Amino acid sequence: MSESVGPIAGSDAKASVITGVSNGADWLARYSSSLMGVFGTPQRVLVRGAGCLVWDADGKEYLDLLGGIAVNALGHANPFVTSVISSQLATLGHVSNFFTSPTQIALAEKLLDLTHAPAGSKVFFANSGTEANEAAFKLARRNSGGNRTKIIALEGAFHGRTMGALALTAKEAYRAPFEPLPGGVVHIPFGDIEALRAAVDDSTAAVFLEPIQGEAGVRPLSAEYLRAAREATTAAGALLILDEVQTGIGRTGKWLASEDAGIVPDAVTLAKGLGGGFPVGALVTFGSTTSALLTAGQHGTTFGGNPVATAAALATLHAIESQGVLQNVLTVGAHLREGLAGLEAVTEVRGEGLLIGFDVKADIAPAMVSAALDAGFIINSPGPRTIRLAPPLILTIDQADRFLDALPTLIATATANTAKDAQ
Ligand SMILES: *Cc1c(COP(=O)(O)O)cnc(C)c1O
Repeated sequence: MSESVGPIAGSDAKASVITGVSNGADWLARYSSSLMGVFGTPQRVLVRGAGCLVWDADGKEYLDLLGGIAVNALGHANPFVTSVISSQLATLGHVSNFFTSPTQIALAEKLLDLTHAPAGSKVFFANSGTEANEAAFKLARRNSGGNRTKIIALEGAFHGRTMGALALTAKEAYRAPFEPLPGGVVHIPFGDIEALRAAVDDSTAAVFLEPIQGEAGVRPLSAEYLRAAREATTAAGALLILDEVQTGIGRTGKWLASEDAGIVPDAVTLAKGLGGGFPVGALVTFGSTTSALLTAGQHGTTFGGNPVATAAALATLHAIESQGVLQNVLTVGAHLREGLAGLEAVTEVRGEGLLIGFDVKADIAPAMVSAALDAGFIINSPGPRTIRLAPPLILTIDQADRFLDALPTLIATATANTAKDAQ
């Protein structure tokens, strides 16, 4: 056996590992008989992407206004990111955390730099948002030598699906089947500063906040709330941990959505957009005291921080920085929000940059998602009256206008279809 390559090298290699060529309906039948049902039936089978466009197995084109849920920061198949990932994989793909590699170190330094982390700040790499939050949960449990167990999160919070992150997540339907969850987490009303002040005490290990709750329908916390949270946690000796898994890495036109509040948190978790589509998560701890809470042997991961994932993130950050992407997010985001706010059928528009939520008058959001797919747009409904947009950060004004122009018809179609279904 040759040690250098598999049975086929080059462009035929991919074809040789995918068995059978199907159309969308056939693929979905194969999906149902081979994949676990936790995601329901996927909406489409996607086979190819370029920039903000994707194509399904039947050749239909879509404008992707969801970006893999705020993941594909630079769109699909970005040539620069692809080339950095490929060359890293062709050089050294994985080493385990018995070893390190230059891309891991360079990415940690870059994240500390972009988040304006003070001296003594450190990074832990994971592979997903939930894992970054698991690391943060364990960090919180080590506050005050492990003597504080109370952790505060908000109603509406989404922090992930593994057991620790699920304990932080508020939604009853996600939690109930898996109780008992790790203890000590209390959920307090969203955005209520008095409730927060009343809840944080000297038994509190940490407060977990999303600067903008994404899964709850794009609900921003005010800068005032973030500052109050910083004051209350500092006074009580509790950690302030910001989950910027969805809001971080340019999504709001800033590296962190919390930037404008002018606070230094104790930790921030990142994932979704960080790898530009490649799975990578991170916990950034601020200051040497917090960074020292987890010591050798207290946490770990096999894949976390591997050379390919960290190269992907470095490439993504470099492209965002060097191609004026943050400015584009601000410009196109403002344009989209303005266009949405001008529509008679839209009752509220929320969010920052290219993380946008808007409400419509009736429970037609799921029907809007279907109508949008039929019309060639990918959008998402986190609630019955709410649509979320989290497109690639490179979305153009023209592309935004295509959606805005189509929206009145989508709403009319969704209204008619919802009425029909109700009969
Ligand atoms: C998506 C998300 C998570 C979970 O990330 P996964 O990669 O799906 O595990 C956690 N927190 C927030 C705010 C998210 O949006």
